[in-house]
Amino acid sequence: MQADFLLRAARGVQKLSPYVPGKPVDELKRELGLSDVIKLASNENPLGCSALVQQTIQRELGEIARYPDGNGFILRQALARHYDVDMRCVTLGNGSNDVLEIIARAFLDPADEAVYSQHAFAVYPLVVQAIGATGITVPAKNYGHDLPALAAALTERSKIVFLANPNNPTGTWFGRDDFERFMQAVPAQVLVVLDEAYIEYVSDEVAEGMLDGMALLQKYPNLIVTRTFSKAYGLASLRVGYAVSSPLIADVLNRVRQPFNVNSFAMAAATAALSDQDFVRRSRESNAAGMQQLQQGLQAMGLGWIPSAGNFITVFLARESMPVYQALLREGVIVRPVANYGLPQHLRVSMGLPVENARFLDVLHKVMSA
Ligand SMILES: *Cc1c(COP(=O)(O)O)cnc(C)c1O
Repeated sequence: MQADFLLRAARGVQKLSPYVPGKPVDELKRELGLSDVIKLASNENPLGCSALVQQTIQRELGEIARYPDGNGFILRQALARHYDVDMRCVTLGNGSNDVLEIIARAFLDPADEAVYSQHAFAVYPLVVQAIGATGITVPAKNYGHDLPALAAALTERSKIVFLANPNNPTGTWFGRDDFERFMQAVPAQVLVVLDEAYIEYVSDEVAEGMLDGMALLQKYPNLIVTRTFSKAYGLASLRVGYAVSSPLIADVLNRVRQPFNVNSFAMAAATAALSDQDFVRRSRESNAAGMQQLQQGLQAMGLGWIPSAGNFITVFLARESMPVYQALLREGVIVRPVANYGLPQHLRVSMGLPVENARFLDVLHKVMSA
């Protein structure tokens, strides 16, 4: 008889439920025999990525047989210049998911606690629980982070606070003043991980008073800012993210990081993408227009949503959302159910191209009035 290997798994791992990604387009095509499918489920960039990226990857093809630069010199140097920080402050990851996991593995023992908000990004509890450490979930306020409550939840056992700004899946955000008050309430030895995966999408409307974590790294040596090339830079498939922190913290992270965690194509593409800030600006503008389009459409349907600073919007359906999600799939439209985030009556929709947004609105209208 086969042993029960789930019971043999590490204690923290036994209780994990795996991350549920957005449904891939090809999977839905296979399952329902559809040919015309759109995916607005993973906050991907509908504009694709910078034109520089393709050429860069072509050039890199000859080097497939070689290991990538395990120090990531060129990309780290480019990021250091971009943010005007020392190169030793930058840690690269295979997506920022990898960076988040490296942080948890580098700092958490099973006896430790990490704190995060209700409705925050699902990867925080995953990386904390996998180690067997204790995750403390602090109730959200208006779907967003309740910073005073997060600070108040810290105990002597707390080593890390994870914050997402803007947050996924709610799109909520907090400003610099609230964050600074929070940092002043947090003991200096507690690490604060500020996940800014969507920061490049923050529009001018929101930007006033918005927090830029990079500007506060000098002031708070316990701050780690994480960012990614997956969202506004449009490199989700390549998996590149990074942390910027004090060199001391980066040195600890580097002890856990796998030597070749980011591949050469990803690093070369990210370096090229970073140099094309015009593409990022166009992405931000296109996103702002899509946000307008979706909000107008939702309003016309009498539906509410959570105000979002990201490239997605979480819609309140005032009914169980899973059947609506399923009905949208049958129409070839993939969005993201968020019941696993404690939001069983919401759906998260990523901004698409104008035609995709229009198709989503049409199909949602049809499904909701059926
Ligand atoms: C998408 C996302 C990330 C980025 O993930 P990658 O691993 O870099 O693709 C990180 N944090 C949040 C909150 C996200 O939504």
